[in-house]
Amino acid sequence: MLGFFFYLKLNYTLGGRKMIVVMKPGTKQEDIENVVKEAEQFEVEALAVTGKMQTIVCLTGNTVTVDIKHLEAQSGVESVKRIQEPYKQVNRVVKKEDSVIEVAGVKIGGGHFFMAAGPCAVESREQLMTIAQAVKESGANFLRGGVFKPRTSPYAFQGMGYEGLLLLQEARAKFGLPIVTEFMSVDHIQYADMVDIIQVGARNMQNFEFLKELGKINTPILLKRGFSNTIEEFLMAAEYIMAGGNKNVILCERGIRTFETATRSTLDISAVPVLQKLSHLPVVIDPSHAPGVSWMVPSLSKASVAVGADGLIIEVHNNPKVAVSDAAQQLTCEEFADLAPQIRRYVELEGKTF
Ligand code: PEP
Ligand code: MN
Repeated sequence: MLGFFFYLKLNYTLGGRKMIVVMKPGTKQEDIENVVKEAEQFEVEALAVTGKMQTIVCLTGNTVTVDIKHLEAQSGVESVKRIQEPYKQVNRVVKKEDSVIEVAGVKIGGGHFFMAAGPCAVESREQLMTIAQAVKESGANFLRGGVFKPRTSPYAFQGMGYEGLLLLQEARAKFGLPIVTEFMSVDHIQYADMVDIIQVGARNMQNFEFLKELGKINTPILLKRGFSNTIEEFLMAAEYIMAGGNKNVILCERGIRTFETATRSTLDISAVPVLQKLSHLPVVIDPSHAPGVSWMVPSLSKASVAVGADGLIIEVHNNPKVAVSDAAQQLTCEEFADLAPQIRRYVELEGKTF
């Protein structure tokens, strides 16, 4: 009750902002002064408010740099609570309108639907050209295809590498489809000019050194949510890229690990409205990696559009049975040709275009 009173008082006197440090009942004055001093080291304003039994210290200013653990470790501190989110650049509070990423003549977000399709991995010229032509004819506006593959086994196919990048470029020139492909390390950033969007895979979502380097370029980044990461961690990963200066970030929900074993991952559909409420960045869904099986892709795609996603990235293969990776989840070109117009109708129903 006392805490609630303090909270209301702070909201009123200080605009309801930022962070509060709750001191233990009966804390000595010198401990309170110490907390104020320690907080001020992070270049925020600190104000102690003392009630009958307890004191809280209110922090305002740019609290994103405040080290919560450091304050928690100070003598007399009971808890430290953020009242405002720890991310700034990605925050809807900071930028009210939807971000629209414009790349190679394609707009993504703010009513413009991203429809990427293509193989899990680029395997050969013939394979890629066949698929690129098919997905283009079906209305995709982006071609996906992995050339650096994050495989669970070191003995599995690791991707065609640079040679695969050249094939992606060839397909882009031939079919007029911009390309999105995964980079796995800082070393791969040297190829940034060869692609239209760089994908950061689920396994690399918290590779902070990589994220920092991606912040230094302008190529748009499709950032996938790690399979064990919270929405806040996901947004903080996007914050890393944006804090470095690269404002072109697209968030991608691709399923998370839960207790459920019936699907490869559990598609967190509710992440879409949550992310769109908290952030201004476009939010797309990968309905292929989440279930891990192709028969679920159509229904999850429709659900994604209905929940408000700004796009889809779907795996399509000309002969999934012989695919070198993710064989079970890739749609055939015919299945994608059947699905694409259905998706388009859902997209139109949502008042969006692609
Ligand atoms: C992929 O897109 O092929 C991929 C490996 O995705 P994720 O990082 O979501 O598993
Ligand atoms: Mn895949």
